[in-house]
Amino acid sequence: MSDISELSDEQLTKELQQRKVSLRVKKKSDNEDALLHDLQVHQIELEMQNRELQESQARLEQARDRYSDLYDFAPIGYATFDEYGCVQEINLTACQLLGMERARITGKPFTGFMPQQSKLAFLQHIHEVFLGGGKVITETRLTPYRQTPVYVRLESIAFENKLDNTTSCRTAIIDISDSKRVHEELRQQLDFAENLIETAASIVLVLDPEGNIVRVNSFFEKLTGYAREEILGKNWFATFIPEQEQQRVLAVFANAASGVRTTGFINPIITKDGEEKIIDWYDAEQTDSQGHLIGLLSIGQDITPRIEAEMSSYESERQLRLLTDALPVLIAYIDPQQKIRFHNRHCQTWLAKPANQISGQSMGEVFGVAAYEVLSSLIDTVLAGEEVSASFELPLSPDNKPYVMANFIPDPGRNDEVKGFFALMNDITRYRTEEVSAKQRLTSLAHESRLNMMGEMAAEIAHELNQPLTAISNYADACLRLQKSDKLQPHDITDVLNEINDQAHRANQIIRHIRDFTQKRELQLQLTEVNGLIKEVLQLVSGELNWQDVSVTTQLTDARPAVIVDSVLLKQVLLNLINNAIEAMAAANTTDRRIAISTVVTNSHVAIEVADNGPGISDELTEIIFKPFFTTKAEGMGLGLSMCQSIIESHEGNLLVRENTAGGATFCIRLPLAPVE
Ligand code: ADP
Repeated sequence: MSDISELSDEQLTKELQQRKVSLRVKKKSDNEDALLHDLQVHQIELEMQNRELQESQARLEQARDRYSDLYDFAPIGYATFDEYGCVQEINLTACQLLGMERARITGKPFTGFMPQQSKLAFLQHIHEVFLGGGKVITETRLTPYRQTPVYVRLESIAFENKLDNTTSCRTAIIDISDSKRVHEELRQQLDFAENLIETAASIVLVLDPEGNIVRVNSFFEKLTGYAREEILGKNWFATFIPEQEQQRVLAVFANAASGVRTTGFINPIITKDGEEKIIDWYDAEQTDSQGHLIGLLSIGQDITPRIEAEMSSYESERQLRLLTDALPVLIAYIDPQQKIRFHNRHCQTWLAKPANQISGQSMGEVFGVAAYEVLSSLIDTVLAGEEVSASFELPLSPDNKPYVMANFIPDPGRNDEVKGFFALMNDITRYRTEEVSAKQRLTSLAHESRLNMMGEMAAEIAHELNQPLTAISNYADACLRLQKSDKLQPHDITDVLNEINDQAHRANQIIRHIRDFTQKRELQLQLTEVNGLIKEVLQLVSGELNWQDVSVTTQLTDARPAVIVDSVLLKQVLLNLINNAIEAMAAANTTDRRIAISTVVTNSHVAIEVADNGPGISDELTEIIFKPFFTTKAEGMGLGLSMCQSIIESHEGNLLVRENTAGGATFCIRLPLAPVE
C-alpha cells in the first residue's frame, strides 16, 4: 500500500471503501489477511479523522482571529476589570480612547485615567458589578494620556471564568463626548431661550387647547401686575379679556387652534389694577409628534404707549391745524428743496389756490415768478440758518400786490443742518395805509393846535411885546427930551441905548420863539422805544446834573413800551422837564436834589413821570404854569411848558403836573402805545 498521507481525500475515501469490501471477503477466507486489512482500514479512518481535526482546528483559529479583530477594532471600547478595577484585558479602541498602548494599560488600575472626583464612582460601579446584580451603567469622565478629557458611559456585567473559576467585570466603554457636547449645547440653547423669554420686552403666553394659562413670562407679570402663581391654570379669556371683546378674541383663538396662524391681531387686556393695555399678538400653535394640538404660543407686543403717542400726536396735529387755520396769517413749512410740506387754510385763501396745488409744490410754482424773485434772497438766508424778518410788497399778480410782513424761521436738524423753515407772512397793507394817514393826520393836527394856541396867545403876545416896546419908546422919548434940553451927556446916551438894545433883544427873542413854534414842521414820526429815549436824554444832561449835584433814579418798565413819535420833539420835552426840575431845586436851595424818572404801561398808553423834590407847585398854579409866558424866573420866557404840552397833545397824548405828597412836583406825560403788529 502506498503512503496514505500523500493521498487526496477522494482517493483516501475510495481506498477505504475498497478495503472494507475486500475485508469482508478476506474475513471469510483468511484471518491473518483480514487482520492486516482491518488495520489498514483503521489507519485510513484515523488519517481521515486526523484531517478533519486539523481542518476544524484551522477553522477555530480563523474564528479566534476574527473575534480578536472584532474585539480589538470594535467601534466601542471593551475592557475586563478585576474586582479592584485593574485592567485585565482591553481592546484597541479603548486603548486609543486612553491614549496609551495596551501593554502599558494592562494590569493598571483604571482609576489612573480618571479625574479625582470620578474615581470613587468608578470603584462603586465595579463593586456593584461584582455583587452580581446584572448590568451596571455609569457615566464618567476619563483623562486620557496627553489628550483632551472624554465623557464615557461604562456598561458592565460580571463574567464567570469557567476555566479558572474566577469572576471578572466585562465593560463596554462608550465615548459619549459628542452626545454630551450636543446635550450641553442643547441645554445652553434652552437656557438661552429661557433667558430670552424671561428678559424679552414682549409677552410670552402659552395657553392649553381649552384656553387656560400654561405659562407666562416676567414681562407679562410686570405688565399686568399679576404674579404667575396667581394666574397659571386660569382661563385666559375670562381673566384678561374685556367682556365686550371676548367673542372676537375667542373666534381668533379657535382659528389659531385650528392651525390658522394669527399675526398682528390687536386686542386690549385688563391688568390687575383694572387698566387696559393694547396688545399686538403673534400666535403659533404647538403640536405633539402626532400633530395633535397641545397648546397655543403667543407673543404679544404692548403697543399702548405707541397708540397713546399716536393719539396724542394726532390730537396735537389736529390742534395745530385748528390753530393755524384760525390764524389770519399765512403759515407754511418748507423743506430744503423749497417744497411746501405744510400750509394753513389762510395760505389757500391768500394764494387763491386749492390745497393740492400748494402741498408738495415748490415755492416758485406756488408764488409765481415775480413774487418768488422778491422772496428768493430771504429763502437763501433762512436756508443758510439765519432767521429773517422783513416787510415788502409781494407781487402775487399784476393787481394783487399786498404789503407783507414776513418772518422766516429756520428749523435746525440734529447736526445743526437746516431741515427746512417755517414761513409766516402777514398782509399788512391795511395797517400801512392807516399808518401813513395817521402820520399825516398827526402832522396837520399839530399845526392846527399850534395855530389855535397862537390865537389864544395873541393877546398875551401883544401884552408881552408891549412891555419891551413901551420901554424902548420911553427910553427913546427920554433921550429926545434930554437932547432938546441940551442936557444930554455922552454916557447917558450909552446907558439909554443899552437899555433900548436889551428891550429890543427881548422882543426879538419873543418873536423868534413864536415864529419857530408856529412854523409848520413835518413831524418825523417813527417807532420809538421810550426807555431807550429816556436813557439818551439822561446821557445828554448828565454834565448839568453833575454840576448841579442832582442824583437821578430810574424805574423803567420791562415791557419796553414803544410809541410812534417825533423822537427829537419828545427828547426836547423831556429835556425841558428835567431842566425845570434842576432849576426849581436850585432856586429853592434844596440840599438833597433828586429826580426820579419812571415809565408805566397801561392797556393802551405809556406814562412817563419826571418827579423832583424841589418846591413843588401849588394847586392854583397847576394849570397856570402851562399858559404861555407864565414864569417865576427872572430870566424865564414862560414858553417851555406850554410848548411841551402842545407837542405832547400833537401826539394825541397829554401832559399834567401834580404836587408830590412828600414835596416836589411830578410831571406826567401820557402817550398812546404803538399798535402791535
Ligand atoms: P420858564 O422855565 O421859562 O419859566 P416854563 O413854561 O418852562 O417857563 O415854566 C413855567 C413856570 O412853571 C416856571 O417859571 C416855574 O415857576 C414853574 N415850574 C416849572 N417846572 C417846575 C418845577 N419842576 N417845580 C416848580 N415849579 C416849576
